[in-house]
Amino acid sequence: MNFSIMFDKEKCRGCTNCMKKCPTQAIRIKNGKAIIDHKKCIHCGECIRACSYGAYSPECIEWKNETNAYKCKIAIPSTTIYGQFPRGTDICVVQNAILKLGFDYVYDESWAAELVAKAIKKKIDNNKDIRPFINTNCPATLRLINIRYPSLTENLIALKTPMEIAGILARNNARKKFNLEDKDIGVFYITPCPAKLLAVTDPIGNLGPSVDWVIPLNKIYGELYQKVVKEDNLICSYPSLSGLKWSVCGGQSKSAKLTNFIAVNGMENVIQILEEIENGKLSGVDYVEVLACVQGCVGGTFNVINPFIASSNNKYILNTLDGEPINSDLECFEKLYNKGFFEFEFPDTESVNKINIKEALKKNEEIKQILAILPGLDCGSCGSPTCLSHAEDIYNGQSTIFECVVLRANS
Ligand code: SF4
Ligand code: SF4
Repeated sequence: MNFSIMFDKEKCRGCTNCMKKCPTQAIRIKNGKAIIDHKKCIHCGECIRACSYGAYSPECIEWKNETNAYKCKIAIPSTTIYGQFPRGTDICVVQNAILKLGFDYVYDESWAAELVAKAIKKKIDNNKDIRPFINTNCPATLRLINIRYPSLTENLIALKTPMEIAGILARNNARKKFNLEDKDIGVFYITPCPAKLLAVTDPIGNLGPSVDWVIPLNKIYGELYQKVVKEDNLICSYPSLSGLKWSVCGGQSKSAKLTNFIAVNGMENVIQILEEIENGKLSGVDYVEVLACVQGCVGGTFNVINPFIASSNNKYILNTLDGEPINSDLECFEKLYNKGFFEFEFPDTESVNKINIKEALKKNEEIKQILAILPGLDCGSCGSPTCLSHAEDIYNGQSTIFECVVLRANS
């Protein structure tokens, strides 16, 4: 991995804030310190936001060292990047500032996003028997579904993300343009999102990563900002206006020209809506767009601007950019779509279905019995986020009933 959610035990005060916010209940507090179960972590970054003591942070590669290995370095800025600068900052100024960091070529993610939006529309129109479809571009919600809602797997639209498509197309372009072999081309994605790292280093399903390195935006923002302020070179490749919409929640549905969709952002809301789908309540909806971060990817942990300001900056850019540039890759869209270029296969859910029902029932019964002894306050003082998770920990031999402070006080 080139970076991850890193934890500094010394800074942790055991306050339980991260444990209560973690959507997959991956965090426990033991001996006054947080412990993460990495198998359950979906890299959503909620713990980074929740910790006031700075115990969580992204660990970043020295990405500049990595660029030495390539003859051609391509930067793919996320669709969120332009909204991270003061309103009125020229798009070309930002792209040229990125080049000055040491890149040879900028491929805008928005071009790929426009293509993926078209694929979303086509797949929804061609498959009337699945409703609702759920987006697969947010790796945090994708992993959440994998861990907590495996029954929703068949609702996933299972299309590659704009980042992945951008990685493939950018590499193809550079190969032709500079007459290079793949090994000489390094693709660097500038991300607002910790979960994109896992999407590259440990992808779900049969996706092969098309991006080589991921750079958190906040790690390069200072240097970029200084260059943006001085930049005056105004030659660049304009982004796709349709693709730029993806940075904000609801944008991909609008980019795909959908009319019957629900767009939800923020982990708590996402969990509620996934439960609605699981309960069969949204079968009249074509597409549900679930994004882990507040306002969508503009709220990603590695952005620097308040998500609401960034979202408004983005709308300003969309309203003020002149004309819609032509996306030359649209010409071969039908051919690519029919070849299955946009598709990926989600892991087989058979293992979920093959769970021994008898054993599962017995386990649930035992957990229920333990839960009945606990006070049901979900206070978190035992080091587990809820009484139910504490009962599960006791069942799994990871805790004891004596960790419950309420029971201890009463006995
Ligand atoms: S990144 Fe998200 S899932 Fe992982 S430990 Fe932090 S809050 Fe939990
Ligand atoms: S909403 Fe966007 S930034 Fe946030 S976790 Fe999902 S993909 Fe990453």
